[in-house]
Amino acid sequence: MELSGLQIFKYLPAAKKAENSNCKKCGCPTCMAFALKLAKQNAKIDNCPYAPDELKGIYETSCKQPQNTVEIEGLKIGGENVLYRHEKTFINKTALAVVLDKTENNWQDKLKRIENFEITRVSEILKIDLIIFKNFEEIPSVKNIRSISFEEFNQLPLKGIVDENFSKTSDELISIRKKAILEKDEKFAEPVYVYFRQNVDLNILCAKASYYLCKYANMLVFEDFDEALISTLMTLRQNIFTDPQKPLQVESKIYEFNNPDENSLIFMTTNFALTFYAVANELESLPVPSYLIVTPAEGMSVLTAWSAEKFTAVMVARTLKKFDFADKVKNRKIIIPGLLSHMKEELEEEIENAGLDFKIVIGTIEAFAISDFVKNYKEE
Ligand code: SF4
Repeated sequence: MELSGLQIFKYLPAAKKAENSNCKKCGCPTCMAFALKLAKQNAKIDNCPYAPDELKGIYETSCKQPQNTVEIEGLKIGGENVLYRHEKTFINKTALAVVLDKTENNWQDKLKRIENFEITRVSEILKIDLIIFKNFEEIPSVKNIRSISFEEFNQLPLKGIVDENFSKTSDELISIRKKAILEKDEKFAEPVYVYFRQNVDLNILCAKASYYLCKYANMLVFEDFDEALISTLMTLRQNIFTDPQKPLQVESKIYEFNNPDENSLIFMTTNFALTFYAVANELESLPVPSYLIVTPAEGMSVLTAWSAEKFTAVMVARTLKKFDFADKVKNRKIIIPGLLSHMKEELEEEIENAGLDFKIVIGTIEAFAISDFVKNYKEE
């Protein structure tokens, strides 16, 4: 367990009103300040000549990395510090690996399917993380996917669980992770993989693998390869392994829907992924083509970005300039989210200052209303 500043402070001279209290020899103005720095691991305990050995012992244990990180051809697994994502963040997402056995009749087809498998989600291109080649004298060359022999894989410092029974596997996964994180027991510090043998019913496989991905497999290894299963797991994984302190964001650029031309409608929003996909879905289903200008806003939604000064008139003018958008279109009306209606004049002024002649139209507050808005939209 990590120690809090208060737990550390209890061992220092000031807490005991002892001699040398707040002596500043550690470089901090008070013992409490030093304790808080130690809790964040921003100071060395030896900087205080009066820290008792008992504190040194428990502090050293609390700083120990509970789970090892193992790197396979640049793929990192393990290294987790917490049981629950909201406590801090998860470090390395559960890797998805497939075994390719040369004794399988159709291994060439399977390899081709694995190589060709790719999904794009929230601007991330997702592929199988690792192919484990079994019974191959020489590993075939594979495009853009890490590979390893079965023998090498078995020598990695990982703990493997062959899945036979759901309760047994899930209990073992939870118990290992708790012993590693809560007790920092070195015997349980190895990252854990779950191995699924061939021919498991796909529904059951999907249910089990989804659960183990959440709690607490560092890697899932499949003898079978199924695109739908892997796509489902990758989608779940992307949601579980995002950093709760960092909002999901998409690239700031100009997106096109239904082959727009120079007279098409122009919308604008920020690069917060949820807002982007809500608007993009609506624009895609419109009977008319359109552009969507996405401004950089550190992944904040429009109103949050405006209040944090991440959506400003200067930023909008800069984005239009950056993409030379004025040269691409004849349309000179940009539809902004209704929540930003108060910015109309400020935006037009800044756009004019930047030497551009776009006017601002106030759009809808909610994305679902875009379709009705477009039906009633008339060029002035
Ligand atoms: Fe307190 Fe130790 Fe720092 Fe002195 S050196 S202020 S006793 S923590």
